Amino acid sequence: MITIDGSMGEGGGQVLRTSLALSMLTGQPFRIEKIRAGRDRPGLLRQHLTAVRAAKGICGAEVVGDAIGSQELTFTPCMVSGGHYEFAVGTAGSATLVLQTVLPALLVAKERSTLLLEGGTHNPWAPPFDFLQRAFLPLVGRMGPKVRVELDRYGFYPAGGGRFRVTIDPVAQLAPLELVERGEIHRKRATAIVSQLPMDIALRELKVVGKRLGLVVDPPDIVFVKDPVGPGNVVLIEVESENVTEVFTGFGQHGVRAEAVAEKVAKEVRRYLAAGVPVGEHLADQLLVLMATAGGRFRTVAPSRHTTTNIEVIKAFLPSEIITACVDEARGVWEVEAKKM
Ligand code: AMP
Repeated sequence: MITIDGSMGEGGGQVLRTSLALSMLTGQPFRIEKIRAGRDRPGLLRQHLTAVRAAKGICGAEVVGDAIGSQELTFTPCMVSGGHYEFAVGTAGSATLVLQTVLPALLVAKERSTLLLEGGTHNPWAPPFDFLQRAFLPLVGRMGPKVRVELDRYGFYPAGGGRFRVTIDPVAQLAPLELVERGEIHRKRATAIVSQLPMDIALRELKVVGKRLGLVVDPPDIVFVKDPVGPGNVVLIEVESENVTEVFTGFGQHGVRAEAVAEKVAKEVRRYLAAGVPVGEHLADQLLVLMATAGGRFRTVAPSRHTTTNIEVIKAFLPSEIITACVDEARGVWEVEAKKM
């Protein structure tokens, strides 16, 4: 039985989710201890428990320790079955992270899958729906499977209540992904989304990102959420290049000025643009789990704690060798290679 220390590296939900994903993919059971041990509210929260139950349902796993607050879990997977599944986090916890957990196994399942996911769709510290749709899933498509997502309802923290649908046409084996050159930038676009909040927030955010990134923001691209469940705001910056599309997100937060939200995301985009790489910080850790089974190579910015933690978890489940190397210190360019054994 593989034993995972849940407090390793980044020490959050990622260790658990990557372990679940790889256990489902490889059929190997694991035990995880000290789940989110260093966090304010340690152990499994609703969002993590939903991910555990989702993984359990999809592969008929035997699970011990799946309760709120639990810091230990044993997961023994059985057969992965595609099909129709519905998972609701029940709070504003991220529903996209539930998808992140079960997606790798469903990409190579025997059957097609359709999922209905409820919870947060635009949460800080989680992939926003737009990032999945426009940045992550098109790259998954290059590895063979076709995944489509459709947003029914926005879910922001703290109200939650979002919903989206996923259709997965799997393949028998993922193809390797090579993403070394970003290519020419075709388009940069900024969009501000507001739910039950004044338009002024969106306008101020777009003004700042327009100035910082040299974007035309007139007319402003603003999405007003129809039938909102609760208040929320994000500013999204999409950088569409020849070989990849990246999506960067700034989350509006109570007590943080719209200008500061916009400045922060603009800074992240500038760092990405200056490095000249195809893969940004968040795409990197998310692609890595898939590349660990398929092989491949990409260039990115300096690896985040999420990426280095994923590498540690991958090593526990797979014989793949993952090599990270800084190839241009001045510009902050790194290369990550997954060698399938
Ligand atoms: P954790 O913090 O352990 O719950 O994991 C968070 C996950 O969400 C990681 O895979 C991050 O790369 C991803 N993530 C966080 N923020 C963003 C963002 N703004 N865009 C895309 N992915 C994100």
